[in-house]
Amino acid sequence: MGATTPGFVCAHHHLYSTLARGMPSPPQTPHSFLSVLQQVWWRLDAALDLDMIYWSAKLGAAEALMSGTTCIIDHHESPNAIEGSLDVIRQACEEVGIRVNVSYGVTDRWQDDGTLLDRVAPSSAMTKGARLGLEENRRALLSGATAMVGVHAAFTVCDETLQAASALAKEFGVGVHIHVAEGPDDADAAIRLRDLAQDNWLIIHGVHLREPLPGVLVHNARSNMNNSVGYAQPQKSAMPVALGTDGIGADMPEEARVAFARLREDELTAPADVIDHWFDQSRALFPESRGDSVTWNYDNADSVWHLMYTPGTRPISVVVGGRTVLDEGVPTLVDIVDVRRQAAHHARRLHERLAS
Ligand SMILES: [Zn+2]
Repeated sequence: MGATTPGFVCAHHHLYSTLARGMPSPPQTPHSFLSVLQQVWWRLDAALDLDMIYWSAKLGAAEALMSGTTCIIDHHESPNAIEGSLDVIRQACEEVGIRVNVSYGVTDRWQDDGTLLDRVAPSSAMTKGARLGLEENRRALLSGATAMVGVHAAFTVCDETLQAASALAKEFGVGVHIHVAEGPDDADAAIRLRDLAQDNWLIIHGVHLREPLPGVLVHNARSNMNNSVGYAQPQKSAMPVALGTDGIGADMPEEARVAFARLREDELTAPADVIDHWFDQSRALFPESRGDSVTWNYDNADSVWHLMYTPGTRPISVVVGGRTVLDEGVPTLVDIVDVRRQAAHHARRLHERLAS
């Protein structure tokens, strides 16, 4: 056993949510999964500008690095700042020294007349917002960035948009990164996805998924608990399983401890090796992580049974692509104090917008 591990992978993140902490209370208290989206996330993403996205991503990337996470698969939405948003996220992560796979979450929920729909009819026409989102995905893919094609969720896109996203992903040989059956409102998603999904798709949440789909199921234990959507029972899924955070940081050992506690609550005999397998599936999505090196303040960091019952483990140094990007627990390429100060400034701007 030893203190060194490969880099950890967050297989589903929303780096734009880093500045959401401490945000003003929503106008109405959410009482369901859908109202959490309406009252919190769809208000937040509509308020983002490119400066906020940059500093949110930069702080999120720095905190990921300080947690031993060297690779993030990000899913982004900012309906009033679509163009250039993926470049900004890439730039922030590169400056910190971690790897990112970007995608823009296409949606038709914002109609061309500015109205917001909870659910989009499959027979509707593609909206301007969805077209811009697809263009942003295409721009990232054309630039040679590590990227996928993002879709918000089946219930907020029409068939035309879903098929266009699937075709774009095929054109570039990548998968689609999509939320599926997170809440009961999206339980029928598989009916529309089963003929489109491929093995390289990322199927996020799948809590209410009634049948396995091609692709990797990404489990976000803490987010699912936070949103009261139920337990996905990923250990029983026929799909390969990876671990994400759904935007609640990118501390993967910490996320895994929550996932393990939830797993054991459901199944007393479940071994921690299940978590190790999920770590491995996550690394398979971002194979460069295996060449990254994290040295921890804990001698048994490479033993999952030790890691699951040892809170507070921290990296001392991290090497990504041969470069030391964290030393003595502190990022080497950016000034973390300055990043926190700038992020706090833009968080205040964001919160003021949400309060008005
Ligand atoms: Zn998500």
